[in-house]
Amino acid sequence: MPGLLSFDDLKSKVKDGSIDTVLTCFPDMQGRLMGKRFHAVNFVETSFKETHCCNYLLATDLEMATPDGYAASSWEGGYGDYVMAPDLSTLRVVPWLEGTAMVLCDILDHHTHAPVPHAPRQVLKRQIERLNALGFDAMMATELEFFLFEQSFDDIRKDGFRDLTPISGYNEDYHILQTTKEEGVMRPIRNHLFAAGLPIENSKGEAEAGQEELNIRYADALDCADHHTIAKNAIKEIAWQKGHAATFLPKWDHTKVGSSSHVHQSLWKDGEPAFYDADADLGKSTLMDHYMAGLITYAPDYTFFLAPYINSYKRFAKGTFAPTKTVWSVDNRTAGFRLCGDGTRGVRVECRIGGSDLNPYLAQAAMLAAGIKGIEGQMTLAPPTTGDVYDADGAQDIPQTLRAATETLRNSAFLKEAFGEDVVAHYTRCAEWEQEEYDRVVTDWEIARGFERA
Ligand code: ADP
Repeated sequence: MPGLLSFDDLKSKVKDGSIDTVLTCFPDMQGRLMGKRFHAVNFVETSFKETHCCNYLLATDLEMATPDGYAASSWEGGYGDYVMAPDLSTLRVVPWLEGTAMVLCDILDHHTHAPVPHAPRQVLKRQIERLNALGFDAMMATELEFFLFEQSFDDIRKDGFRDLTPISGYNEDYHILQTTKEEGVMRPIRNHLFAAGLPIENSKGEAEAGQEELNIRYADALDCADHHTIAKNAIKEIAWQKGHAATFLPKWDHTKVGSSSHVHQSLWKDGEPAFYDADADLGKSTLMDHYMAGLITYAPDYTFFLAPYINSYKRFAKGTFAPTKTVWSVDNRTAGFRLCGDGTRGVRVECRIGGSDLNPYLAQAAMLAAGIKGIEGQMTLAPPTTGDVYDADGAQDIPQTLRAATETLRNSAFLKEAFGEDVVAHYTRCAEWEQEEYDRVVTDWEIARGFERA
């Protein structure tokens, strides 16, 4: 891809002065890029080997609070360092920032240099290794939905997050006229990301005023998660540069449609689609049946990784295209899992449960783990559901609240086996803290409802 740099390319760009800054970063628990801005000369001379960060970065919430209860990172433990080890295969230019390149890092133990097991990139790498050991590669695509607003982030914050004005005045699903009006933001997003080495397919208007979708071509699972993370960061940065705000909050207004991140998945063997069997019903192989059976059966266990905040659960509402049932269907957008590309080499399963706030590393890792479990146990896939799945009888529900998803995560024997007990304990604490913070705070809704009338 254009935009990806070898280390030698970077050195020559530093020498000729076209690159002066290297963003050295990693995805945190929330899927945000965290890290440092290196002077490029320092990076190519020494820091390309490793740099360091405080280990609290994998144990904070969105507001950088330092909750108790994490075994890996605490006041008692003195909040020491992690090693950030640049993965030089991810080096790329950042065309929307002047003179800047970027590299993603893996997080290692400061003393032993062993990978930190709960670092999101490592959580995904571990499941990819397990899948590779079975002889398969995973190809994934995560769709990015978000809303654009007329105002900037700073204006919105100063106004107390009130009177938000979406960039368009009406539902712009597939609209060319309305999306033409947004090209000032969306065109640089597509073009800059493409020039940074991301295989951008398209952007389109989505089914609400101000709602956008960006599609990136499927890639192997780690690249897909890297692409998602870089794209999400770029969308916010480019929107900010243009004086607008972009939000990935799944439900910023309860009267409007929410934003999701659908995850398309297929397994491949020696470069051939292992989910495809030309002679089978719908062209889907027995391997795909097993994978889907695992994915569907264990969805309640890993719902937290698709819906990590209180707000995530506000999206799961009947009749909104956000699914509530863990069943599958053929090209039907009301089911949790949709079979796409049936009868073709592109046959794949799309998980529609995840919100736009998911961390792609953790979501993909959890789904791979569930699929692997299905393959190993040769699990049987139930027949597809048809019609409006919101009303399907007997279909398994996903947990309806963060509290419920925290319990299914805490008690998941399958995830403990796949991720390790420590990793599950770490993310259970993350989920608990989010709930504790919410429970502690008095909201505007309670005041307005009860101030006079209670
Ligand atoms: P939709 O109608 O849902 O928008 P698209 O045909 O645009 O479907 O594809 C959605 C996503 O699926 C794209 O990002 C595409 O790259 C990805 N995709 C296509 N084929 C595969 C595959 N075999 N495995 C995983 N993802 C795929």
